[in-house]
Amino acid sequence: MAKEQSQRLLDEAEGYCRRHGLRLTPGRRRVLAMLAERAEAMKAYDLLDSLTRPGERVMPPVVYRALDFWVSHGFVHRIASLNAYVVCGHPLHNHGCQLLICSHCGQALEVCNLRLREAILETARASGFHFEKVALEIHGRCPRCQGRAV
Ligand SMILES: [Zn+2]
Ligand SMILES: [Zn+2]
Repeated sequence: MAKEQSQRLLDEAEGYCRRHGLRLTPGRRRVLAMLAERAEAMKAYDLLDSLTRPGERVMPPVVYRALDFWVSHGFVHRIASLNAYVVCGHPLHNHGCQLLICSHCGQALEVCNLRLREAILETARASGFHFEKVALEIHGRCPRCQGRAV
């Protein structure tokens, strides 16, 4: 994610926490900043490694709690099939994301098809279900990996 984009995400997160009376702890901030900086799916232990600096240890529960926090507030998507996390490209808006996941390189690209979102909304509504958010996982091969041997 470009620097301005990741800064905007952090600003949005800060505003969101303020408005909702949530604490933006240093752990939460650092986890979100790292995911925004990388803009690729990261596993919790990769995050832990990246956040650890000489003489400063980040405890696993801090990372896990921070991830849970951001996932529950829609700033981060958990990719169940990879057991990894990726920052949301547009938190607070339009929670109907689709994640295109390359089974070769593991890259996760977030896309947003509004018609798909509408269809999901409608499907939920028809069953009297109150829609909140969805992140669909679509598996396949990214353009770079097509034609490459498995
Ligand atoms: Zn998203
Ligand atoms: Zn790929």
